[in-house]
Amino acid sequence: MNQREIFLRHVAQTSAAPLALEIAKAEGAILCDVNGKEYIDLIGGISVANIGHRHPKVIDAIRKQLDAYLHVMVYGEFIQSPQVQYAKMLTEHLPRSLNCVYFTNSGAEATEGAMKLAKRFTGRSQIIAFNNSYHGSTQGALSAIGSEYWRNAFRPLLPGVFHCDYNSFEAAGAVSGETACVIVETVQGEAGIITPTKEWMLALRNKCSETGALLILDEIQTAFGRTGKLWAFEHFHVVPDILLLGKALGGGMPLGAFIADQKMMAALTDNPALGHITTFGGHPVCCAAGMAAMNALLAEGIIDSVKKRGELFGLLLSHKKIRTTRAFGLWLAVEFDSVETNRKIIDSCLASGVLTDWFLFAPNCLRISPPLIISEQQIQQACEILLRSIDRS
Ligand code: PLP
Repeated sequence: MNQREIFLRHVAQTSAAPLALEIAKAEGAILCDVNGKEYIDLIGGISVANIGHRHPKVIDAIRKQLDAYLHVMVYGEFIQSPQVQYAKMLTEHLPRSLNCVYFTNSGAEATEGAMKLAKRFTGRSQIIAFNNSYHGSTQGALSAIGSEYWRNAFRPLLPGVFHCDYNSFEAAGAVSGETACVIVETVQGEAGIITPTKEWMLALRNKCSETGALLILDEIQTAFGRTGKLWAFEHFHVVPDILLLGKALGGGMPLGAFIADQKMMAALTDNPALGHITTFGGHPVCCAAGMAAMNALLAEGIIDSVKKRGELFGLLLSHKKIRTTRAFGLWLAVEFDSVETNRKIIDSCLASGVLTDWFLFAPNCLRISPPLIISEQQIQQACEILLRSIDRS
């Protein structure tokens, strides 16, 4: 059996038609397959490789940590410098109330931990979530995601989770003294880049404060410069009670986090003690990599050019077959008339050396979320290929 056959036979598949691209190397905004063919990466591992693949500072930090120690103890018991220093750095760049970091292995685990914390801290169990939102695939996170198609196959799920329309004021009305938390993406990603109004975010924030419900902002896809600011919530002038991070948090290594005030977080230490446990969460190599990535993101001023590069995509991608383009920072959803058209364009791009994708809840939209360091020349080249692919569709 060749490698592809072994992949299809022995690696669990999540779709009937995986891309099955065999990668030999990834650097910056370029992926290279085993045949030596190069691809401009327009998805960055789905908003992970914000500072580019294999940034030298990240590789260096990983190497240094490899020489010191790997896993030594379950989460929370030992003082592990990479965890401690990264928690310090993250909280120094967050509002004062977000001062305590619980590191997890993934975004979904951050969602799980935050939902548990909200229930434990408020003593309530009702959760308000949103249609077309994505928070992860574990059963608690799945209960909160906004698609009946994905939820229904796995019922029974968590009781007491209610879904409202995103950016609709009905949601603020639904929050009451029985609500433990409102979990919401600051900008909806898998719905195809849906940006709410500042008024709506503020209304949610105010209703949560009035009723004692906690506002959980899921920034797993929006953080670390994707929208043109370090955190997307900065655009909306609201501060969440709990912030969810993942994806770019680990600089290419698996890492998630939920961040809250220390007094709130203390609810996980008592009755029961060890209220949330993870063996590998905050793995020292992942924290060392993540911290190096965040350092590079800030020190190299990468976020400063995000808006301009996003606008360049918008400017270049003009075609009569494009229905509309929604964008925020360097994050675009290019909408076509059908899933089939989108699929044809994605396949044709891949054949011509551009990697792109669709969105989970907007399969007729083409995803553009490249490494933030993609050059203007690479953007131009990618857009030429995209336009030719659209012509052919
Ligand atoms: N939340 C959002 C907004 C996401 O986009 C994702 C992943 O795509 C998750 C949560 C889940 O993260 P993970 O796949 O690391 O579990």
